[in-house]
Amino acid sequence: MKPGMVSIVGAGPGDPELITIKAMRRIQDADIIMYDRLVNEELLSYAKPGARRIYCGKSPGCHSMPQDKIEQLLVQYGAEGYRVVRLKGGDPFVFGRGGEEALAVAEAGIPYEVIPGITSAIGAAASAGIPLTHRGLAASLAIVTGSRCHEQNAPVRWDELARGVDTIAVYMGVSQLGFIREQLLLHGKSAATPVALLENGTTARQRIITGTLDNIDKLAVAMKVTNPALIIIGEVVKVREQLLHLQNDVKSQIV
Ligand code: SAH
Repeated sequence: MKPGMVSIVGAGPGDPELITIKAMRRIQDADIIMYDRLVNEELLSYAKPGARRIYCGKSPGCHSMPQDKIEQLLVQYGAEGYRVVRLKGGDPFVFGRGGEEALAVAEAGIPYEVIPGITSAIGAAASAGIPLTHRGLAASLAIVTGSRCHEQNAPVRWDELARGVDTIAVYMGVSQLGFIREQLLLHGKSAATPVALLENGTTARQRIITGTLDNIDKLAVAMKVTNPALIIIGEVVKVREQLLHLQNDVKSQIV
């Protein structure tokens, strides 16, 4: 049988309109769509009638379908000749395990492609009015996971980040905010460094909480910030305030 095609597709950060045309075309043509928890389910309504939808969602600490099972199904459906869309929140290659899935299908000799998506830090920062780089304020950006704070193997180098990077975008970090704050302060970041918490970025439920490295952990608790949320650390967070002031005169899109 002719093998099918596995498309590993980024669905974008939450707002369903923030998907690429190419990704949308793959959704419309798919026989099978295997989608994650952070994918906006509205996107599934574009699937053709009869397409199978398989939920592979994971919430933190709880896996509804183990990763090896997902990879096995991608290989199996691909080998059976189906057009499979593996639909993931944000970008599949940014903390999305898309690389592992690409390796699994490639090893099995199944044709595959990767279609990028707008990663949540880019999407959420845009709708919060926070430019991740900004002339005079930030010339570098690091995308970091907060979920490996206590790992021995590949720990995040908070010491180097504190000294060497202007804007830090932390994914999966809200539960580790106290630790992250402590590390950055310990390694020389100023307590006055602005910080933003972006919850449900780009969606109608978006919440934006701003503070400083000094108080952000207390603010997160007080405001009951929950997943999915991003931590943006750096002087660029101040630009949001500037834009909001100007917005008093000119109506724009920043919420
Ligand atoms: N591949 C995804 C990231 C998956 S890891 C991407 O490129 O965006 C999951 C983490 O992404 C969450 O813990 C959260 O930190 C972040 N995230 C995903 N969607 C988000 C959203 N709409 N608002 C804020 N953070 C989000």
